[in-house]
Amino acid sequence: MVFDIDDITEDGLGFRLQVGRDRFKIDQTDCSLSQDVSVEGMLRKVNKEVFLSGQIKTEVSLICSRCLEPLRSPVDCLVSAKFVPHDKAKKWKSETEVQTDDVDSEYYAENKVDITQPVHDQILLAVPFVPLCGKDCQGLCPECGRNLNHGPCGCHKEKPGDPRLAVLQSLKDKLK
Ligand SMILES: [Zn+2]
Ligand SMILES: [Zn+2]
Repeated sequence: MVFDIDDITEDGLGFRLQVGRDRFKIDQTDCSLSQDVSVEGMLRKVNKEVFLSGQIKTEVSLICSRCLEPLRSPVDCLVSAKFVPHDKAKKWKSETEVQTDDVDSEYYAENKVDITQPVHDQILLAVPFVPLCGKDCQGLCPECGRNLNHGPCGCHKEKPGDPRLAVLQSLKDKLK
């Protein structure tokens, strides 16, 4: 996902890429890419700075945080980044303390801009923090470990409800 900045004209450089998922190191047991990554977007050059804006589409394979079953979650998110020349970036850091952090700054060298890192980071940011296979996933029985989505296990009888617990439970449900 490397671009030559000389290819970026005044009107910018539009692109559409399909990149193999093996190009990204997103391959943990609990989070891996299950599809290739497509990125569509635009590179613009302002003086020596290059701005990326684009849209990422892919799919990740995750583990449900309640029942521990694998699940797939589509990723469809925006990415933006700013690339500054490597030498200039160093100079800037020492000259000015104040940096606007609305877009991440990446560095480039030898007139080549590589958008792999911001795309990688953005995919990870888009992954749900608490993945669920479904919003009403029943999870595992804390006693026997059975996946309660497959039916009740029998070891957990409903106790007559304590109203205070019921309030807590409904609060908990709201937070999910
Ligand atoms: Zn689940
Ligand atoms: Zn059980």
